[in-house]
Amino acid sequence: MTSQPIGTPGAECPSCGTTLEGKFCSTCGEKRVFTADFSFRKYLREMFEHFTHFDSKLLRTLWLLVSKPGQLSVDYLGGKRKPYVAPLQLFIVVNILFFLFYGQSDMLAPRFEYVYNGKTRDWSGQLVKDQIDTYAQEHNISSPQAIERMDEKISRYTKAGLYFYIPLLALALMLLYYRKYPYYACHLVFTTHWFTFFLFFFGFFAPLVVWTLKIKEAPLLMVLFSMLLPYVYLSQKRFYGQTWLPTAIKSAVFMIFLGFFYLVYREFMLFLTLYFN
Ligand SMILES: [Zn+2]
Repeated sequence: MTSQPIGTPGAECPSCGTTLEGKFCSTCGEKRVFTADFSFRKYLREMFEHFTHFDSKLLRTLWLLVSKPGQLSVDYLGGKRKPYVAPLQLFIVVNILFFLFYGQSDMLAPRFEYVYNGKTRDWSGQLVKDQIDTYAQEHNISSPQAIERMDEKISRYTKAGLYFYIPLLALALMLLYYRKYPYYACHLVFTTHWFTFFLFFFGFFAPLVVWTLKIKEAPLLMVLFSMLLPYVYLSQKRFYGQTWLPTAIKSAVFMIFLGFFYLVYREFMLFLTLYFN
């Protein structure tokens, strides 16, 4: 009993019922099982290959994402998908990695500690202060303790909230480039890739900038956002294929939208945390 397929020639695919030919089902892609597949050695090798294969796929995908802005989305839309990790899967993996490195991120979430002590200029600064003091009184704890509780909570909300960026930014791009791709899903693919890079950039590159330039919150954000500009320009140019002038204008509009959305998002997160206790 070696290497005989379980299904004899002309057998049906166990998953979808199509008549089988070759190693894979031509309709649903189900792999044909052979008796030899059940040997323990083969089983171990397959498990191992599954993981190393994903690792090399992930590295290849990340490398393309960083080295050739926009190319990953072009490939995905063009149907070259097997060599790379799919967009949402990629985003989720990078998201998990990001928060493994950062339990709490000062970059993406406002900290009540800073807002309370007036280290950041938030629109809601005074309001936040009053709310925290009231909360501390009501719960019979000190203000620093209240701040600590809120900071824990806001970092949890912010992690979940990150997923809202993608559909909203895709909508902005759809408005900017509706003639190029009339389907929302195309912009969604591009935005998912782009936002993955954004997280990658903030997670692994921004700390280097902070460390070397030693700058604080407000100017830091300006520096980081302007460093993102070349990537935004290049990826939009490659993906949407317009000439340099409209691409430059649309990149700028996109960045303004992103900055504005980021500010609104910060305040929204502060309020969400304060009022859902
Ligand atoms: Zn099938």
